[in-house]
Amino acid sequence: MNFADLGLSDELLQAVESAGYTEPTPIQAQAIPPVLMMKDLIGIAQTGTGKTASFVLPMIDILAHGRRRALMPRSLILEPTRELAAQVADNFVKYGKNHDLRMALLIGGVQMGDQVKALQEGVDVLIATPGRLMDLFERGKILLTGCELLVIDEADRMLDMGFIPDIESICAKLPTNRQTMLFSATMPPPIKKLADRFLENPKYIEV
Ligand code: AMP
Repeated sequence: MNFADLGLSDELLQAVESAGYTEPTPIQAQAIPPVLMMKDLIGIAQTGTGKTASFVLPMIDILAHGRRRALMPRSLILEPTRELAAQVADNFVKYGKNHDLRMALLIGGVQMGDQVKALQEGVDVLIATPGRLMDLFERGKILLTGCELLVIDEADRMLDMGFIPDIESICAKLPTNRQTMLFSATMPPPIKKLADRFLENPKYIEV
């Protein structure tokens, strides 16, 4: 399997080549085509399998082919920790260097000022931890009604950290006609329940 067989644009294939990747990992080979076809997805994969690129690469293509609408964020990636959120943001910068996509990293432990400023300027991708996102939402600094793409990453760690109520509340603020991807290393019953409630006819991939 080659990256060129997955349906990614030439710009993305160039970014993958500059990253030095010669072939897609199994999660990338299986996830990228359905995500590009706007399907919901459950990916059972550990960190280290290349799962970040399996959602970041197709998301860049999807966002690049749509249009930024006013100031509403178009997509949201939820991560359990600041470190993971920062890593995903680095991936967006690395793979998205040929695209003019705006990103905001909404994590705790840093002042809100710059995050609010980024939101006011309009963003394509929000990468957030649930606590900080809820905080900004409750202060009226963020509208999620334009978010048509959602990634819930490391869902089982979110569960361990007690984030499921926040995630449910965030999902309920997004439009129902959206594309949702959920990644988790394991599928305990509360995560299965979350997926049943918030994903529609998802493609299921286990690597
Ligand atoms: P992740 O599982 O997303 O944390 O990725 C683990 C590591 O694999 C990261 O350092 C990536 O840069 C690297 N990686 C991702 N995709 C590929 C690929 N197709 N070939 C080689 N390395 C990759």
